[in-house]
Amino acid sequence: MGGSADKGQREGVGALELMLELSRAKLEDFWLTERGRWRPGWRDSQRTATLSCPTCGQVASLSGHAIDEVGTVTPSVVCPRGNCEFHDFVLLVGWAD
Ligand SMILES: [Zn+2]
Repeated sequence: MGGSADKGQREGVGALELMLELSRAKLEDFWLTERGRWRPGWRDSQRTATLSCPTCGQVASLSGHAIDEVGTVTPSVVCPRGNCEFHDFVLLVGWAD
């Protein structure tokens, strides 16, 4: 372990202040090869998004999450990859565009 000073500092702060802002993927990056990006999608006629984990690059659907009009994802996002510890509140930058 070690090197977790940053994480410890962030705990106990208001959730809105530690939102992780993810940029929308470029159109040509359909498979989200770049880490920490998202792209829009649809599921059951509802607008949703797919993102790539900022830590390991695992691509995951947000169809089980709610996304508000400005791109705030609730609840927080947990990476589906077992050995990845990514868990954060996410804001999809550009969602409203
Ligand atoms: Zn991950």
